Amino acid sequence: MFLQEYRKDVQYVKGVGPAVAGYLNKLGIKTVSDLLLHFPRDYQDRRKTDRLADALLKGQINAVVRVIAHDSIGWGKRKTLKVYIEDSSAKAALVCFGRNYLNKVLIPGRHFFVSGKFYYRYGEIQSANFEAEPFDEKSANSGKITPVYPLTGGLTQNLIRKIVSNALFSVKGMIDDELPVELMRKYGFPGKYEALRKIHFPEEWQDIKTSHRALAYEELFYFQLTVFRKRISRKIIRTGRNRIPFLLKRHLLKRLPFKLTEDQCKVLSEIENDLFSRYEMMRMLQGDVGCGKTLVAFTAALSVIECGEQVAFMVPTELLARQHADNAAKLLEPIGIRVAVLTGSITGKKRNYLLSSLEKGEIDLVIGTHALFSKDVHYRKLGFVIVDEQHRFGVLQRVALTGKGLNPDLLLMTATPIPRTLSLTAFGDLDISVIRQLPPGRKRVITHLTREGNEHKVYERVRQELDKGHQAYFVYPLIEESEALSLKDAESMHKYLKRNVFKNRRLALIHSRIPETEKSKVMEGFVSGNADILVSTSVVEVGVDVPNATCIVIEHAERFGLSALHQLRGRVGRGEARSYAFLIYSEKLTEDGIKRLKVIMETTDGFKIAEEDLKIRGPGEILGVKQSGFLRFRIADIVNDSRILCSARADAGYIVNSDPGFLKPAYRVIADVFKAAPPFDDTFLQGG
Ligand code: ADP
Ligand code: MG
Repeated sequence: MFLQEYRKDVQYVKGVGPAVAGYLNKLGIKTVSDLLLHFPRDYQDRRKTDRLADALLKGQINAVVRVIAHDSIGWGKRKTLKVYIEDSSAKAALVCFGRNYLNKVLIPGRHFFVSGKFYYRYGEIQSANFEAEPFDEKSANSGKITPVYPLTGGLTQNLIRKIVSNALFSVKGMIDDELPVELMRKYGFPGKYEALRKIHFPEEWQDIKTSHRALAYEELFYFQLTVFRKRISRKIIRTGRNRIPFLLKRHLLKRLPFKLTEDQCKVLSEIENDLFSRYEMMRMLQGDVGCGKTLVAFTAALSVIECGEQVAFMVPTELLARQHADNAAKLLEPIGIRVAVLTGSITGKKRNYLLSSLEKGEIDLVIGTHALFSKDVHYRKLGFVIVDEQHRFGVLQRVALTGKGLNPDLLLMTATPIPRTLSLTAFGDLDISVIRQLPPGRKRVITHLTREGNEHKVYERVRQELDKGHQAYFVYPLIEESEALSLKDAESMHKYLKRNVFKNRRLALIHSRIPETEKSKVMEGFVSGNADILVSTSVVEVGVDVPNATCIVIEHAERFGLSALHQLRGRVGRGEARSYAFLIYSEKLTEDGIKRLKVIMETTDGFKIAEEDLKIRGPGEILGVKQSGFLRFRIADIVNDSRILCSARADAGYIVNSDPGFLKPAYRVIADVFKAAPPFDDTFLQGG
């Protein structure tokens, strides 16, 4: 019953005609429920108004004033309206920069409610930063905590307040509580109607908090229910693999010059459990750069191969494909595994031959870019798909791949640790494995911050490293000189460093515009020690492994994002020797730029860096899906409401486990009430 009231067109609300409905539509408000879920962005406390005379003392005030007269300052285009106001205590002036239209609103003789920041200038009390609206003694808003809504042209605060109030009145008594009673009692939540009413029209400040808690919890609870529902629905029961003696795995581990770390062992057994369970695997492996994810993935792959199935290992760049393939060849070919590389640059006969071998099952492990899942690629029996650096792939590419086999197991790997709150929402239906430990003997990379102008000192330090036989990276934000940005670029700096700084050293250059074949040649040259310095853009960010490189110089470091900086720094410190990262920053630092550099200087823990990144950038940016409406909750904020999120998840999990039947109606409710564009991408989660 309540659903119908909710779904009614917003035009049913008293005070909403076609014109107003049109404006509301622009805000995405089509139904009564949309309107009720259009939450205030702020509130003003109008229970006590201030006197204009106290404006200077208090700075920010709310006052009821009368407009005395208009005046203007400046000439021509710069002409700006100035409005004189007064109350019983003082006179003041409002300077309407860019708001000359207020001359039609702030009509002399009328009373207004003004809220603003005041200061003393040119012998008078002034404000240029204020909001004003007609004051009406009998108005519903005077003497209360008043909501301030996001607006669009055509709407005023007063109008939208009135409409929301009418809408609330129209659904009174018709809104059922949607949370199970036990949960409402457990947390002492107010009823849904009460919560909605008080978030729009609070009586006390505390009301806003209480309502927010209840509504955010409800939203997250239903969200987590859908997550659990997906998790159950995708648990496809299959004929499990037969147990094997793990001969290949044992063979490999015996040949390694080191032992797996404890974390690697733990994660490997989690993966193996999945591989031999009766459900297909959907697991995300998180672990910082250099923690040894690749080796874990290879080892897991061996078990699938031992069962007679094929494994596809997807990476974001050709460069990485080759490097991984070289590695795989070294590690795995001696124990009889047939390894191949498949990328976009492999064409013609070679490609045809490769494709037919894949189809015939003559290849056990194929490593490549998304070319692995082009239309014409067929596998004989694809049992396991590993996606390295998964955050670099679009959602669609991930879908295409699972269509290739019969429910292949899926392992997503990422070196960008994902904050827990994000894992629980964006990836809430994946199982998660984490490697926190680095292999023993790794030394923490020493990070230095240097101001532009002092580069020569850094170059000198690099020279000392080169003298010891080590190698270095130099990273720049641009490929080539740009007229628009006065930043250093890789091409010019490659020339400059070669000519002026490191004259008798071998310098190589790499960036995304260099053709693939050339790129891998350059990279192979650097890996095998034929170049001392690699000048690049952030293409070296992903996965490249050169243990002899002991320093990385990042110029204009403030231009790089936190996770990029972290990944770049991870390029060094991969061998036995002490390693250094030199971050050179320019004067023009933004506030976020300062924050980023501070974080990167303070910690090398990828998980901490990720948490900070989340605070600076917000969830959409981090997942690279800002535009798509991904994770856009109506009221909850996964950064600030992370504790609510965790309780909601725990409760939802408990309910699903004890009463799976609870799921279906719950899902309907969230779809209707929150109209949630599913915060994550459905297609991706449905998999094969
Ligand atoms: P990731 O992909 O997680 O960034 P890699 O798998 O590339 O890390 O591993 C980084 C380096 O560490 C590789 O050279 C690898 O051989 C080495 N390595 C992996 N596991 C161990 C271990 N347990 N002990 C010592 N070295 C290891
Ligand atoms: Mg890696």
